[in-house]
Amino acid sequence: MSNPSVAELFARNREWAAAMERDRPGFFRSLMAQQRPAFMWIGCSDSRVPANQITGLEPGEIFVHRNIANVVIPTDLNCISTIQFAVDQLKVRDLMVVGHHGCGGVLAALEDRRVGLADNWLQHVKNVRDRHANLLDGVAPEFRHDALCELNVIEQVINVAHTTVIRDAWSREQKVTLHGWVYALSDGLLRDLRISIDGIDQIEPAMRHAVEQVTSRERA
Ligand SMILES: [Zn+2]
Repeated sequence: MSNPSVAELFARNREWAAAMERDRPGFFRSLMAQQRPAFMWIGCSDSRVPANQITGLEPGEIFVHRNIANVVIPTDLNCISTIQFAVDQLKVRDLMVVGHHGCGGVLAALEDRRVGLADNWLQHVKNVRDRHANLLDGVAPEFRHDALCELNVIEQVINVAHTTVIRDAWSREQKVTLHGWVYALSDGLLRDLRISIDGIDQIEPAMRHAVEQVTSRERA
């Protein structure tokens, strides 16, 4: 893997901007007027999981919030404000929480490993672990980490669904669909955890179904 200097990043940026303008004259000017992304991505900060590259989307096409282990909690003003802007102002059509197999934050939570200040943040993932302790016990040890990554995505999708922002959007019949995906570092592919929700009545059945799928798949 290359290890460029900071100066090199500016050189690469100039090359990228020039190539974009050469291939698509007016590209940057057209984005200046307004952003109209149809998607919002809530993902892990992990450097190996870049939203635009994985989905083949260009600047202007996806609104992104990332934190350690893609956690959504109602008291996180940063995350909730980002969701609010995406839904109320940008009118995104689909919002996906995207975890990834091999997540270091999830592993620290699974094994109660101390990492520092982030232990407090990862308490939210430990809560997910504890809520699904019986299920995780039934998963073969080698799959347990990936299973918790998936359960964490499912729980965070539910947390998004319970925010006032999403509830208000649905109650005024604004169409916004929530999704839970997991990305595999091993092959670069996204997997749909089949927890797509676009109404309050779907939360419970969608969660049950998605959790069942985690166990049946991991045990297979
Ligand atoms: Zn991660």
